[in-house]
Amino acid sequence: MKCASIVTIGDEILIGQVLDTNSRELARSLEEMGIHVSRMLSVSDNAQDISETLTRELSSHDIVITTGGLGPTKDDITKGVLATLSGSRKMVSHPGQLKKVHEILQSRGLDVLPINIAQADVPETAEVIVNELGTAPIMVFRNIKGGGTLYSLPGVPHEAVGAIPAILEDIRKHQEISSILHRNIMVYGIAESALSERIAPWEDALPGDMHLAYLPNPLTGIRLRLSCYGGNPEEKSRQMEEQLAALKGILGELVYADEDSSLEKELGRLLKEHGLTLSAAESCTGGEIAHLITSVAGSSAYFLGSVTSYAISVKEKVLGVPADTIRLHGVVSSEVAAAMAEGVRKLTGSDYSVATTGLAGPRGDEFNPVGTVWVGVATPRSTYTVKYCYKNDRKRNIERFAASALNFLRLKLISELTY
Ligand code: ATP
Ligand code: MG
Repeated sequence: MKCASIVTIGDEILIGQVLDTNSRELARSLEEMGIHVSRMLSVSDNAQDISETLTRELSSHDIVITTGGLGPTKDDITKGVLATLSGSRKMVSHPGQLKKVHEILQSRGLDVLPINIAQADVPETAEVIVNELGTAPIMVFRNIKGGGTLYSLPGVPHEAVGAIPAILEDIRKHQEISSILHRNIMVYGIAESALSERIAPWEDALPGDMHLAYLPNPLTGIRLRLSCYGGNPEEKSRQMEEQLAALKGILGELVYADEDSSLEKELGRLLKEHGLTLSAAESCTGGEIAHLITSVAGSSAYFLGSVTSYAISVKEKVLGVPADTIRLHGVVSSEVAAAMAEGVRKLTGSDYSVATTGLAGPRGDEFNPVGTVWVGVATPRSTYTVKYCYKNDRKRNIERFAASALNFLRLKLISELTY
């Protein structure tokens, strides 16, 4: 398997001003393609640091990808370092990139200054991929320092990400990449450790060329990615399907989708397929559920609306939660979650509804610890409630409350639809 190192260049990253998102995007794409990323590094805008780091990475990797330091300003010194490392004696202007520089500056109504023209200058040893999105060129150095290939990308995130398809195409053209297949299944409602224990016998029996990765996310649950390296793609694909079918059998309704998906997308698919509508009443999630649902294109087909009933008065006046219920059971209770769900269902006339009442933090109250949420789901048949307890900070609690509520709703919906 080919291996790669990603090096981001720039003081902004090292002083904590900018989060290195370029490495993440590059790593994701390289991994998908079957190239192992064995290192990610960030170096300052310092010629010696850049030079030493790249020399070392090139000696131990087939591919080194850098981002940043290509701009027109004095702190952008990457190009000079690459010229030295690749034994270039002179810089040459690249006509395609120079044309792009003119186009971009003219479209912004800016004068083309000598430092802009210099952006199209590259070491004579570089192959250029024209950067369609910016003024800095994308450069390829082959056999640099007697080692692998170095790709130099601009630092601006949308330009770096925009360069990825061209880089992958170049890698495919010039390197032997063994085939790789990935299949994902989405799981919600079980902790990673419990999941790993439950599927251990299945995982241990996987053929040697198959590998399982656990990719958890508070909003979407755990993505299980099965990868298979090498071999005949059709045959391997069939073998992977068999493995996945067995895995789904073990996990049952914990699996909510086959490929990269989300609870809100899956829920939307189910509601749309059956011509059903949904509404929400949110206290502690403050609109997060409505936000997740409406971030799915086409959600207007099934989502009627939501009430952010943060105050007790709104729970009572808008949703019709009886004051006695709140007084007797407390606002964070099964009874209030049920009354909120029933209230918003009646108010909007939706088929299904979901409601949350809980304590996202930072403090709990005298009855419930922080991280407690009651979820209510009202349906044409019945009303259901469930309690979850998490131990995160406020932001993460809200995300997990919303995701758990969506999952609870999904389970009730499925059980009623298949009833
Ligand atoms: P420019 O022509 O804008 O100078 P450049 O190739 O020199 O481009 P940088 O100067 O390093 O790139 O960065 C340009 C912008 O992109 C800066 O705002 C920087 O904060 C951001 N940036 C740089 N590297 C990264 C990274 N790895 N992840 C996210 N953002 C980044
Ligand atoms: Mg710059």
